[in-house]
Amino acid sequence: MSRGFFNVPTPINEPVKGYAPGSPEREELLATYKKMIANKIDVPMHIYGREIRTGNTKNITPPHDHQHIVGQYHVAEKKHVEEAIATALAARQAWSNASWMERASIFLKAAELLAGPYRAKMNAATMIAQSKNVHQAEIDASCEMIDFFRFNVQYMTDIFKDQPASAPGIWNRVEYRPLEGFVYAITPFNFTSIAANLCAAPALMGNVVVWKPSDHQAYSAQVIVDLFKEAGLPDGVINVIYGDPVMITDTILASPDFAGLHFTGSTTIFKNLWKQIGTNIHTYKTYPRIVGETGGKDFIWAHNSANPLQVATAITRGAFEYQGQKCSAASRAYIPYSLWEDVKKHLIAQTNEMKMGSPEDPSNFVNAVIHEGSFDKIASYIDAAKTATDAEIIIGGNYDKSKGYFIEPTVIVAKSPTYKTMTTELFGPVISIYIYEDADWEHSLKLVDESTEYALTGAIFSKDRYIVEKASKALENAAGNFYINDKPTGAVVGQQPFGGARASGTNDKAGSAQNLLRWTSVRLIKETFVTPEDYKYPFLE
Ligand code: NAD
Repeated sequence: MSRGFFNVPTPINEPVKGYAPGSPEREELLATYKKMIANKIDVPMHIYGREIRTGNTKNITPPHDHQHIVGQYHVAEKKHVEEAIATALAARQAWSNASWMERASIFLKAAELLAGPYRAKMNAATMIAQSKNVHQAEIDASCEMIDFFRFNVQYMTDIFKDQPASAPGIWNRVEYRPLEGFVYAITPFNFTSIAANLCAAPALMGNVVVWKPSDHQAYSAQVIVDLFKEAGLPDGVINVIYGDPVMITDTILASPDFAGLHFTGSTTIFKNLWKQIGTNIHTYKTYPRIVGETGGKDFIWAHNSANPLQVATAITRGAFEYQGQKCSAASRAYIPYSLWEDVKKHLIAQTNEMKMGSPEDPSNFVNAVIHEGSFDKIASYIDAAKTATDAEIIIGGNYDKSKGYFIEPTVIVAKSPTYKTMTTELFGPVISIYIYEDADWEHSLKLVDESTEYALTGAIFSKDRYIVEKASKALENAAGNFYINDKPTGAVVGQQPFGGARASGTNDKAGSAQNLLRWTSVRLIKETFVTPEDYKYPFLE
């Protein structure tokens, strides 16, 4: 019950800690990592606050040391999925009727807990089981997640403040109701913060959630569950299940109360989910909301007026940070002939300096790719490039999975703009580069725009304002997040709302009011103070 129009704390981006040698945060994080990797975690499912252990388990192993078992997670049978749906619905009445301040307080508290006592644990879990280095874990698992929680509270109140005008004698108002049913969140391995946000955003707006994390993010998912619990999230609001994605999805999408899908992952899976929802449409009580952020083939395009060192740095950071496993990672580049020798020189120099290995050693810039399937897929494209007549590997090209799934940062120069690694999402530390004739720069923009089905992120480099303007226009629909003279990765909540169009997603912009709006269904209320009592209008006289 509110007795005031409350302002929420003004959100600020969580400062990124430096983890320099000798800093207290570095010592705490590395000590936490050591402790956690030496112990075993047993990750249950969570249904109405109960920990469910089925005994049917799968191992959690660090991608950089795949024979070392750090724990296990329990997988569901169909009855657990049905139970998760039923308990979410049972929790719905109390949660959807709770005042928005109570919901906001829980997520604001979660932000503060994560900024403080949970920070090292969340980062260490992400380093261990998702193979992120110290910096990558910090910007994702701590800073971005904290930002999502803080900024979403602000956005929620901004949405609530958006009210219609009222004419004399009447009062119009809108209520932003949660969806009538439950939301199904399916999350990817690559961002701990995305996993948390895909549940937290609908929950903040009053929805209840059944969450299926990625098998490869179970460790940090458990830390998220602990965090939400300590922040005071009531039982049943977010229910967590693991297991066969097809069985889980078939069960969930058969429920008449399925009201929304919050998905991040690959394009093919999302398209199939959309199709399945369409096939089941007669089953549902309401038209489900479908929000999906999916794959990308993110580009860097340089004009001959660009600074070659800046272009090379955007490529090395944009393509190789987190082993190229960011949806926004640069994976194709277009460079003019006149700039190429300089760009190449800097690329070779920077890449040669990069160390690869376990995240436990913070001097390693590159760690392992997520699992054997991903390793084998990337390796097969590298092998094909080694023997191709229309491609040449100029940097890297080696890989080794004896201890961890390590793939060297690799640069392929493609002689054709449609060579398969120029158009296929590999999701690894591989970038393909097409060298174009300087005079053909306008045609090269067409290649950027039309070579792939995706439109997630992209970057252009030029010092010439007219070129910047023309390229921005020519690539208007080629990226949902478009960067001028900067790498295409590293979106910050509250600054660069994130999402792509075409086959890259529904572009509902994670970390913005637009996304939160999708988890509401507006009720307009018109109240008339002096109600008419005669049917006749004046024109009838
Ligand atoms: P993925 O598609 O393999 O898995 C994503 C989730 O879908 C996981 O939880 C997985 O278990 C689940 N899943 C798998 N098969 C399913 C099925 N048949 N039905 C329902 N769910 C199923 O993706 P990933 O490897 O975890 O993540 C990498 C992909 O995610 C890349 O394509 C990347 O571009 C994309 N991504 C996009 C964004 C974005 O904002 N656009 C952000 C992060 C990742």
